[in-house]
Amino acid sequence: MRLLELKNINKTYKLNETQSFHALKNINVSFNKGELVSIIGESGSGKSTMMNLIGGLDSHFEGELLVEGQNIGAFTEKQLDAYRKDQIGFVFQNCNLIPHLSILENVTIALTLSNVDKKERIAKAKEALAQVGLEKHINKRPNQLSGGQRQRVAIARALINDPEIILADEPTGALDSETTEQVLAIIKEIAQKGKLVIMVTHSEKVAAHSSRVIQILDGEIIKDITNDAVVLDASSPTENVTTSAKQKGQNLSFTSAILLAANNMKQKLKRNILVALGVSIGIMSVVSMLSLGDGIKAYFNSMIESFMNPLVVEVSMKQEALDLNDPMAAMQALGAKIPFKEENLKELSEIEGVVEVEKGFQYISMTPTNTLVYGDKTSNLMGLTSMSSVITESNVAVGHLPNTGELLINKSVYEEFGEDVIGQTVKLTALIDNEPVTGEFVVSGVYTAGENNTMADLNNSVYLNYSDLETLLADQNRTLEPTMAYLVATDETAASDIKTTITHLGYGGSTQEVMGDQLITMLNILTIVLAGIAGISLLVSSIMILVVLYISVVERTKEIGLLRAIGARSKDVKRIFVSEAFLIGLSSGTLGLLTAIGLSLVVNHFSMEAFNMNVMIITPAYAIFGIVMSTIVSIIAGLFPAKQAAKLDPVDSLRTE
Ligand code: ADP
Ligand code: MG
Repeated sequence: MRLLELKNINKTYKLNETQSFHALKNINVSFNKGELVSIIGESGSGKSTMMNLIGGLDSHFEGELLVEGQNIGAFTEKQLDAYRKDQIGFVFQNCNLIPHLSILENVTIALTLSNVDKKERIAKAKEALAQVGLEKHINKRPNQLSGGQRQRVAIARALINDPEIILADEPTGALDSETTEQVLAIIKEIAQKGKLVIMVTHSEKVAAHSSRVIQILDGEIIKDITNDAVVLDASSPTENVTTSAKQKGQNLSFTSAILLAANNMKQKLKRNILVALGVSIGIMSVVSMLSLGDGIKAYFNSMIESFMNPLVVEVSMKQEALDLNDPMAAMQALGAKIPFKEENLKELSEIEGVVEVEKGFQYISMTPTNTLVYGDKTSNLMGLTSMSSVITESNVAVGHLPNTGELLINKSVYEEFGEDVIGQTVKLTALIDNEPVTGEFVVSGVYTAGENNTMADLNNSVYLNYSDLETLLADQNRTLEPTMAYLVATDETAASDIKTTITHLGYGGSTQEVMGDQLITMLNILTIVLAGIAGISLLVSSIMILVVLYISVVERTKEIGLLRAIGARSKDVKRIFVSEAFLIGLSSGTLGLLTAIGLSLVVNHFSMEAFNMNVMIITPAYAIFGIVMSTIVSIIAGLFPAKQAAKLDPVDSLRTE
């Protein structure tokens, strides 16, 4: 059986809808192992077309092209890729080395596509480079070599997978006569080792070295002469080193794709750093916004918890949901509470674990309706709260808990009035149920909410006995309706059960809890809005990735063509580009996260000084979310350019300049 047989091959290029060009006409020819065939003919006669068909780069033709009896024309895309990789070695006129890879890497890449392990890859490539006399130059770049040396690298690359057929399209076309001799000697040696070498050439002198010369004119073979003067001794083919460890049927691994991508990215380092910076800003903003939201929420929660006596459950009547469209009304609704009815108090007292129900009153005023006057000083009060089991000795910073006719002032009022106010009489005016009441009280001491609760110490408030408030109203023939109920529980477990029960019954929690819930709802909305805005910047950066990768595809069209010619599947090409997108995403995500962490350190430093709290909390979940998000967004952005790259036609890509 002949190694290679072309039967009635016709190739027509379609130029447009109506016109086409008949480039190969009824080609019938066959080749054997150990032949060194020169194809000569004028430019445009169809030589390259024929080489591309034989090389499996172009499968659109009529007729049969048999390699070891198998018709390539009927091959699937996958079989064709494998055929190019394992059975064909291509050498081009202009070498087509990948400029940013070293000589060694240019040769190993053909093995990388076959997923040969790294050590073996390097050993074999060194061996192949030694065969073409370049062992001393393996670490150079293609542009550091002479034309002849470059062509020898290309030959080493073509040989590395130990193919049966070597196709060389004008390999000496760009070389001077001396280097031509060197390259020819190497090519001749290959044929002597039992390979089929088909070489396109313009030079008569080159043709004279071949064992057979075929001349083509206008797509037809017009001469086929065997040159008896050239004797190739193919009787004792010395086995190529590469034969033993051939890995047919294997493909480019993911790790190799990532490494190739990393190498590509190094070439355009500045560009990629800029892109990564852009993307990282998006990631940083998203992570920062989420963390900031969390930090503020955590602050509110700790504040609410610090108010609580673990044995006392504060209950209020359920508030209507805040109308966020009308912030002023919402603020007032927070302060003015719905009073409890007797039946409510009865229901609460019947809950299991409740030892006692204390009536309470609380009014949080956002407008200056409640005042405390001491001498010529007037303090506007935000909070007016009745005493209960919630407030204990631990809440008294100075003085003692108020007895009848006494009240506690908080730290900010204390600062306004001065130290000598303790034990003095002050005048309280308060709006209760929309009617003002006035009374005189003695300041018994100073209230403090404890360490974590600077807010309660900052907002002017007074604390006095419920019975005193009742007396004030009784003077006006009014009765005080409780707006708070304090349920004293048997123990902490009972307290937490009671909490669940009151929520079930439809009551609200403490003022702080209710306010906290409402604030947290607002904060959540705000956080989502801010993170959404940050997300837009992420979208913009993903478009940036898309553009950059697309430019990269255009720039590297020729390289893609070459990779296809030496056996890369379109899948592999896609994989390399997706890997690049993946790497950009991963590095941007990491960079963004680091920036966000840096930012949080600075922000938290200041917030710690000002409010004794960390305002940005970057949780591990957000960190992972940031990196994963960046990677996914990048990969999605990279898919389109990667697809474009994979779709490129190998022959067309090789032709681009
Ligand atoms: P050469 O013998 O110089 O290598 P080619 O095989 O490259 O010639 O081209 C043979 C003929 O086919 C030329 O006339 C060329 O213009 C035409 N041809 C080659 N490639 C294409 C193509 N992709 N589309 C249309 N015509 C083509
Ligand atoms: Mg040509």
